[in-house]
Amino acid sequence: MKNPKYLVFILILAIVAFFAGKVLLFANSAENTKQEAAKISPDNEVSISIESGMTFSDITEAAGVSSSTQELLTATKDVYDLAKIKAGKNVLFYFDKQTNDFHKLIYQTNSETELILNKTNNVWLAELKTIDYEVRIKTVSGTISTSFYQSALDQNIDERAIMGLADVFAWTVDFGMGIKEGDTYKFIYEERYRDGQYIMPGKILAAVFNNDGEEKEGYYFKEGVDADGEDLDGYYNLKGESLQKMFLKNPVDFRYISSGFTTGRRYVEAFNVSTGHRAIDYAASLGTPIRAIGDGVVTYAGWSKAGYGNLTSIRHNSTYSSNYAHQSKMYVKVGQHVKQGQVIGAVGSTGFSTGPHLHFEIVQNGTKINPLTLDMPSEKNLTEDKMPEFLDSIKDWQKQLHE
Ligand SMILES: [Zn+2]
Repeated sequence: MKNPKYLVFILILAIVAFFAGKVLLFANSAENTKQEAAKISPDNEVSISIESGMTFSDITEAAGVSSSTQELLTATKDVYDLAKIKAGKNVLFYFDKQTNDFHKLIYQTNSETELILNKTNNVWLAELKTIDYEVRIKTVSGTISTSFYQSALDQNIDERAIMGLADVFAWTVDFGMGIKEGDTYKFIYEERYRDGQYIMPGKILAAVFNNDGEEKEGYYFKEGVDADGEDLDGYYNLKGESLQKMFLKNPVDFRYISSGFTTGRRYVEAFNVSTGHRAIDYAASLGTPIRAIGDGVVTYAGWSKAGYGNLTSIRHNSTYSSNYAHQSKMYVKVGQHVKQGQVIGAVGSTGFSTGPHLHFEIVQNGTKINPLTLDMPSEKNLTEDKMPEFLDSIKDWQKQLHE
């Protein structure tokens, strides 16, 4: 599955967790107190999010344990090929709270298995283990009054589950600009417990999002595993069409977008042919990560004389390209291949701009089009022969979502 990444946010979490000396467990219920969290995990956890192109040694370096790289590789070689680690996933490093000794590493190879490296008597030992979570199913629903993020947080939904839901609809709902007051959502997801303690959300199983009068549904389905043991899975609508599309709906992490629709202070402009503003402006704080909406090649990355400030252009195919303007930082170069969701720069206010925002354009055959109304076809639909199994597997969820 291809998921958009929230690399910077995860890194910040990891750093906060590290320095605060606490494992960040987002309490989902009142019983889940900090003391209990500390009891089940006596270590400091550092989570490194794998970016595309990162090698294992880049990851150990990011975690500050590059001196252990070779030992870890040696210990793992008969168990799992670390060259197979995938962008978008995380590697967890555990440090003893007292001594700060790095003594454990966990990498989840797929939804059921994790690679665990433990240091005992200064020797690293690796094993592949089936994850033995106790799974409970949870259903939550809500009506949006300010933003989806706020609405879900107000209900004490684990932030990671909120992000999971946003990932399901990342290609079909613009959580930054496309949300309307009164939009509703309902989703069914797994909660994972170990020894009776809530650990984390598992998969989002099914979800419905009523966005601006349009109902969008997504159901999880796993067809099997590929040759590398990776899940062949995804989210599909009732017709078996994948929710995954060529473009993400939104180039900015929606949690950072400051112009909520009820604030009335949105100075930014939407797409408007009559005013000549053929773009969407996302007001977000300075430094907010900007992600590529789709795979492509960077065709421009530099200062624009036309008022765009720091501008990046990505060519997606012979029809489409996208432009990202006023950036404070640019992380990609001309000629570079970028992946969907890859962070390519940071929100700024360079060029003709009155405050930090991303001026975002989609160009179709040389003409700037309205990104909010662009509807791309689905990428990987289920084949006809998979449909009976798919429809059967979602029957109960379908009922629950609509009752
Ligand atoms: Zn603009």
